[in-house]
Amino acid sequence: MEQLSLDRQPERPGRPAEPSPGSAGGPPRAPRTIEPATEEEVARALAEATAASLAVLPRGGGSQWGLGEPPRAGDLVLSLAGLRGVVEHAPEELVVRVLAGTPLEELNRFLAAHGQWLPVEPVAAPGATVGGLLATGAAGARRLAFGTPRDMTTGLRFVLPDGRVMHNGARVVKNVAGYDVMRLLIGSLGTLAVLTEAWLRVRPLPARRETLLLAEEGPLEALDLGRRRIVAELLPTAVELLDAGAAARLGLPARSTLAVALEGDAPGVAYQRERIARLAAEATGGAAAPGLERLEAESSDAFWRAFHQELPAGSGLVVRAGVTLAELPALLAASLETGLEAARVAGAGHGVLRLFASPAEDDEALDEWALFLRRWRARAEALGGSAVVEKAPDRLRPRFPAWGTPPPSIGLMRAVKARFDPRGVLNPGRFVGGI
Ligand SMILES: Cc1cc2nc3c(=O)[nH]c(=O)nc-3n(C[C@H](O)[C@H](O)[C@H](O)COP(=O)(O)OP(=O)(O)OC[C@H]3O[C@@H](n4cnc5c(N)ncnc54)[C@H](O)[C@@H]3O)c2cc1C
Repeated sequence: MEQLSLDRQPERPGRPAEPSPGSAGGPPRAPRTIEPATEEEVARALAEATAASLAVLPRGGGSQWGLGEPPRAGDLVLSLAGLRGVVEHAPEELVVRVLAGTPLEELNRFLAAHGQWLPVEPVAAPGATVGGLLATGAAGARRLAFGTPRDMTTGLRFVLPDGRVMHNGARVVKNVAGYDVMRLLIGSLGTLAVLTEAWLRVRPLPARRETLLLAEEGPLEALDLGRRRIVAELLPTAVELLDAGAAARLGLPARSTLAVALEGDAPGVAYQRERIARLAAEATGGAAAPGLERLEAESSDAFWRAFHQELPAGSGLVVRAGVTLAELPALLAASLETGLEAARVAGAGHGVLRLFASPAEDDEALDEWALFLRRWRARAEALGGSAVVEKAPDRLRPRFPAWGTPPPSIGLMRAVKARFDPRGVLNPGRFVGGI
């Protein structure tokens, strides 16, 4: 196999400069990009970079490049685009083994030919990869039914900064003896190791899928209907509140709206649809269900695609807060205590609230935003949760850091980082507490 040396890897011709890590359009730093074609090449490149103390930024599709703090340094972008494809698929066992640089869309196209899918959203952000999905560990609206990437992963292969190739788990998780490295790596934002391959649990594609849009009086009422009735009594795959601002951004009437995804066999979906119409009518004191719209098949997919892609793409500021479901109404109410223009979506079954806005870039507006966000984060933390920046204008970042108060386990987290990455070369400073 051809040697991949950092000295010989040219900057990729015709490739645009990488965006500055963590920035939302700031002046591009232009670190070098290398694109290994095999795991062995990843290992060699990483070992060389570590020996030279170069800061390495692993990159999948770049769709969540703004997550966390901008890294303190970035000498080398390690693109996983060359590690692409399905290695093994056991349809009868509902397991697929796939390389980390494989775009999620490509994986789902492959699986669809076998009547299966990885139940992330119909189309994740264009170009988003399996490795990026696992490194961020975050999930969209369907986490209500299918859990987060951690729940879908049965095995991982990864490369440590010193070039050692490791694996944890495999096709089936049997007894997890000792430390569960998989749980540690998923969600660590590429600060501990470079993921090269994963075994994922897949699902049969549902025969029928549709989305109900229920217009409600206000956001708290809509959330209450979703949380206390629909999630508690039925089995939808997603139940998300959109406030008037979020509904308007998605081209719906500017009213609080509850979006409910139903997926499964036709009788099951029909039964749930009827029950939801009744629950919505009961919630208004027996009057006819307020505006209820039904989106089927491709229209339903298009709605969720817009929900997951257009809201963040059209906003300069995205902040995600999470609390327990019981505390979600309080967190939502606190987010409404501002005259600032924002849109909100909240998972009626999973306690994650995301706030979208496009602040003006003058000092006064940015100070006002920072003040509100600090208060809101303090409220989230007082409720036992957290608030994290997914995307922010460069000039807001110094006023409102990406992470809030470090968790009590921060000492342990630092010790883990020191063990995995003693020279601090992987995404330095991106993670909580400057890790
Ligand atoms: C709030 C939220 C909602 C989401 N909703 C959805 C959804 O609805 N559907 C869905 O499919 N996904 C969803 N995601 C997950 C999203 O798709 C992933 O974050 C995305 O897959 C990132 O992929 P990427 O290849 O673009 O990663 P990138 O933006 O390239 O990288 C993201 C981070 O992961 C690191 N990284 C990337 N690849 C590797 C690797 N191989 N090894 C080590 N580190 C790596 C990078 O260094 C960086 O820190 C959501 C994420 C968030 C935060």
